[in-house]
Amino acid sequence: MAGPDYFETGARVGVLTAQPLDGVLDYRAPEGGCRRGDFVEVPLGPRKVIGVVWGAAAGGFDPARLRQVLRVLDVAPMREELRLFLERAAEYTLTPLPLMLRLATRAPGLGDPPSMRRVYRPGPGRPGRMTDARARVIDAAAEHGGLAFTLHELARLAGVSPSVVKGLVASGALIEEDAPRDLPFPRLDPARPGKALTADQAAAAAALRTGIREGGYGTTLLKGVTGSGKTEVYLEAVAEALAQGRQALVLMPEIALTGEFLTRVEARFGARAAEWHSGVTMSERRRIWRMAGQGGVQLVVGARSALFLPFRDLGLVVVDEEHDGSYKQEEGVLYNARDMAVLRASICGARVVLASATPSLETWVNAEAGKYARLDLATRFGRALMPEMRAIDMRAQTMQAGRWISPALGAALEQRIEQGEQAMLFLNRRGYAPVTLCRACGQQVGCEDCDARMVEHRHLNRLMCHQCGATRPIPVICPSCGAEGRMAPVGPGVERLQEEAAALFPQARIATLSSDLFASARALKAAIESIAAGGADIVIGTQLVAKGHNFPLLTLVGVIDADLGLQGSDLRAAEHTFQLMRQVAGRAGRAERPGLALLQTFQPEHPVIRAILSGDEEGFWRAEAQARHAAGVPPFGRMAGIILSGKDLGAVMELGNRLARADGALREIGAEVYGPAPAPVARLRGRHRVRLLVRAAKGVPFQQALRRWIAPVRTKGDLRLAVDIDPQSF
Ligand code: ADP
Ligand code: ZN
Repeated sequence: MAGPDYFETGARVGVLTAQPLDGVLDYRAPEGGCRRGDFVEVPLGPRKVIGVVWGAAAGGFDPARLRQVLRVLDVAPMREELRLFLERAAEYTLTPLPLMLRLATRAPGLGDPPSMRRVYRPGPGRPGRMTDARARVIDAAAEHGGLAFTLHELARLAGVSPSVVKGLVASGALIEEDAPRDLPFPRLDPARPGKALTADQAAAAAALRTGIREGGYGTTLLKGVTGSGKTEVYLEAVAEALAQGRQALVLMPEIALTGEFLTRVEARFGARAAEWHSGVTMSERRRIWRMAGQGGVQLVVGARSALFLPFRDLGLVVVDEEHDGSYKQEEGVLYNARDMAVLRASICGARVVLASATPSLETWVNAEAGKYARLDLATRFGRALMPEMRAIDMRAQTMQAGRWISPALGAALEQRIEQGEQAMLFLNRRGYAPVTLCRACGQQVGCEDCDARMVEHRHLNRLMCHQCGATRPIPVICPSCGAEGRMAPVGPGVERLQEEAAALFPQARIATLSSDLFASARALKAAIESIAAGGADIVIGTQLVAKGHNFPLLTLVGVIDADLGLQGSDLRAAEHTFQLMRQVAGRAGRAERPGLALLQTFQPEHPVIRAILSGDEEGFWRAEAQARHAAGVPPFGRMAGIILSGKDLGAVMELGNRLARADGALREIGAEVYGPAPAPVARLRGRHRVRLLVRAAKGVPFQQALRRWIAPVRTKGDLRLAVDIDPQSF
């Protein structure tokens, strides 16, 4: 953006706020002037909101009525690099810029003047009478001594009115002091030696280090099976970035994975990394946000939102398990954190490492085409091998009703338990049974608000909708036909599998890992650590267990239903099943113990199942790439979903049909529109969802055409339109 960088008192400036309906608004520069990039507080209607000085004013607005910027916040100004990133990301995802800015200003209490935060501690003074309310304030101050609060926060914490706190301060019973500046983070020492690397690892680490020393942008796929030392290698890249005085960011798909990583960082660099995700306290996030801008944070490990931190000098971004679907944000601003990491790095001149045992097809293709460099760690560390993989042909197994562990799998389990080794059963279904149905009329229980079945969760003794989270009691009387006592669970979930395993192996210690069975990320972490230490004989889990956890005693993985992901018409089904099965199998066999993975399948001849068993990865990717190429879909074509939603299906469909007909802007670039058709989640929280899919060739101005196409749409009432660039399913 052109224009001056400094605005004198009273000069017109454009300020971008995070208010969805307003873009850049005109103000007068505050007393003392302001600079481009300054975080400011501005009046907006009756409110005060946070904004960023974006550039020269747009003009046009009556100068006499311009309001003045209230103040410049005491934080590092937004750098040009982050501004550009937000602008390009907004353009790419067709997101209004204010919503993008919102992602970058998610620091709790960002707008609080630092002068309002104080440290409180009990003092020697005596208030007139020690009422309950006063005592609660003193207790709260004693308990949280050293933490900085605003007076209102302390009052809220103690459940009293602010006047009680003020009174105590006046009487000297409570001492109020200036809050110290943010506590600095302990320094990580990149010069400390790491582990002695194998030849493979050393070569990969050297290549990454060289890239960072050379500076500038570049992306590398770091491919290697679980346990091959990818983490060890990218820690070397982190060390190099830190040694250059630059910052590093490591993204992980799952909060539960950060624990082990933090421990390893501490062992390697002598101090912990900063941890950024929704489970981190507000004051800690505030501190990380501010310190990232000042360069006081060297290494951040976190969830995808960490990508929007105002780093002073980001030199490296690692995306661990880069293929993981949870990098795609599916609500609010729809973006893929892996792609956005590459975008930000290309703007700020940083290196990207995409680490995976089973890369996404997009990344594999980019590496084949030479857009990304590729480093392979061919073997596991130590002498451990990739597990042997075998199919159990379920057509040849005699199964009792209500049983899912085949005799062949049961025998393998028994053997492992006898040898004192650990086994894992994998089933990607939470709850007790996926279907609850009436034996009298055959009707299934569905969610009232979503297009989804209600899933029985026995530990809650309720049915739950996995789309919206609604629960209700398990009905005794059929809601459809009124028959009594005929409702029955059908099919297996992990809870039911646990029951079956417990009946088969009454002596075995069984641990079930499913996200809904743990109250907190910390409880889940503890369970994972206990399993790793040998606290279970059989681990039962959903896809939660597929994600990079390190279980050294595990030697057998049994996949209950390898065909599960192959149903449906999603073009990514093959890729996802292949990745998931290889990931899960990769849990088995580490150190000196060989592993075995057994896949229960009704279609052992299916090409995807055969590719999984043969381990011919490159062959699988090549075949998959050819199929996508032939179909003209990503990564060989461009794709976008337009999701229309509303309470009234008729109105949603009508809008969809209107859009499908008015496709002039799309035809100009040779794009095609499919639909409207029910979206992959067709009804959610009482809203109907319909999707139009747009497909275009690569190299055409795709976003521009989409923007022109949807620009005339005025959504009335509760109708909503969301754009999903590069949808996960198509
Ligand atoms: P990945 O990230 O590919 O799953 P890790 O880096 O976690 O692999 O390595 C797997 C295990 O092997 C870890 O416990 C790690 O500490 C150990 N390891 C890997 N490489 C080495 C090495 N060169 N020296 C010692 N231990 C290593
Ligand atoms: Zn629901």
